[in-house]
Amino acid sequence: VVIVSRRIRERGQRAKCLAILDEFRNLCATPVSRLRQIVDAMVVEMHAGLATEGGSRLKMLPSFVDVLPTGDEKGLYYALDLGGTNFRVLRVQLGGKEGRVIKQEYEEVSIPHKLMAASGQELFEFIAKELAHFVNREGDGFRPHGNQKRELGFTFSFPVNQTSINSGTLVQWTKGFTCDGVPGKNVVQFLEEAMEKVGLKMRVTALVNDTVGTLAGGRYWNEDVMVAIILGTGTNACYVERADTINKWNGLLPKSGTMVINTEWGNFWSSHLPKTYADEGLDADSVNPGEQGFEKLVSGMYMGDIVRRVLLKMAQEAEIFGKPIPPKLMQPYTLSTPHMSKMHGDETRDLRNVAKVLKDAFNITNTSLTVRKIVYMICDVVCERGGRLAGAGIVGILKKIGRDGTGTGSGSWGQGKNISCKPRRTVVAMDGGLYEHYAKFREYLQAAATELLGEEVSKNVVIELSKDGSGIGAALLAASHSPSPTRNTV
Ligand code: BGC
Ligand code: MG
Repeated sequence: VVIVSRRIRERGQRAKCLAILDEFRNLCATPVSRLRQIVDAMVVEMHAGLATEGGSRLKMLPSFVDVLPTGDEKGLYYALDLGGTNFRVLRVQLGGKEGRVIKQEYEEVSIPHKLMAASGQELFEFIAKELAHFVNREGDGFRPHGNQKRELGFTFSFPVNQTSINSGTLVQWTKGFTCDGVPGKNVVQFLEEAMEKVGLKMRVTALVNDTVGTLAGGRYWNEDVMVAIILGTGTNACYVERADTINKWNGLLPKSGTMVINTEWGNFWSSHLPKTYADEGLDADSVNPGEQGFEKLVSGMYMGDIVRRVLLKMAQEAEIFGKPIPPKLMQPYTLSTPHMSKMHGDETRDLRNVAKVLKDAFNITNTSLTVRKIVYMICDVVCERGGRLAGAGIVGILKKIGRDGTGTGSGSWGQGKNISCKPRRTVVAMDGGLYEHYAKFREYLQAAATELLGEEVSKNVVIELSKDGSGIGAALLAASHSPSPTRNTV
């Protein structure tokens, strides 16, 4: 009798779990009709963001980068890349067209978690110290003398209102950072003061977003690069815009006629985006509620936690992991997106990788195959939604610059409505651990982009992994914006 009644109870609980899964899947659905609405909303918001300051949640920040690397850059430059979870310092010797990157050295340092909530001074001092260590190990190549300073391209992966190519104020922190005193301030000044303090002679020649660095790094090797995307801890996109379409731009029009725009699409929002109770909970508990809505659906910092939240609901309402609720399941961010990716990549018959992650992340053991299959399916739903939304975002940008095959874009790179000429190849430079390491995410993204563009057009749109291009890209922009470019030439 005991066994029979336990079976009946288990069956009831399994049915409840499946109902929760079904409901969640429906809430997350991204049929192509919905994706098209999102593409169009993205284009509308891009226009609004370019028209007036604060015209859209899409900030559409002018980067002050009006020329991209050509290959002629020469000299020794440093770069500092402060991203979501780590930062890297590098030194690169550029040799112009023939030599290209003659020599390159770098180091990567992970950011101690507590620094993400420290004061701005503390954060930047830590960075300056690490940079100074790196510089002190520089070889014979370059040593400044007299008043010379080394030149640095600073990749700062947060939304910045640029005031020039080498200055700009932080709009707001993202990706869990909360360091006091920085929003509204010039981040270059923070860095330069910290460098001064540790006795490092270095000047910031270019301040760039990581997307802009990736675009520059990609363009250095390939002229068809028009767009750069980051899909990592956070997400963002930048692209080459026609300067005369940037209505809110008060400065002189650049000679090149173009300007790289940092869209900050992580903060994009549209009522067409599929949002669930899990997303609402995640947002409410985050350090930046109401902000970075698109990022919270799509990026590596958050997807694992969305999965956890759905599992928690199943634990609360259907005892999926029995009683009591495993304590770690109640703790935010115990399930990372790499965890999720590992479960989702599980091809074993008994889903033993799912079991292993459940043990590692939550200390949950003895799950049935049915339970593991449900966990796998939740990963699939969250990943599919994120990947497809990212794909739609990319198509939105292509549409804005007339590279989506519809010929309605405003960019000079469009094929024009009535002019028939050979379609141009467009390369999207991509970086970020999420895209690089999560195969199924990549597949869903590509499938959505192809579905939206059609087979023909998508043959001319290539998404290319441009790993760690943002560091080199910043060094290249430092070189092309150097006040004394020849001085650094060795
Ligand atoms: C930031 C962007 C950045 C992106 C990728 C987002 O959270 O707002 O500036 O480019 O993460 O690192
Ligand atoms: Mg990065």
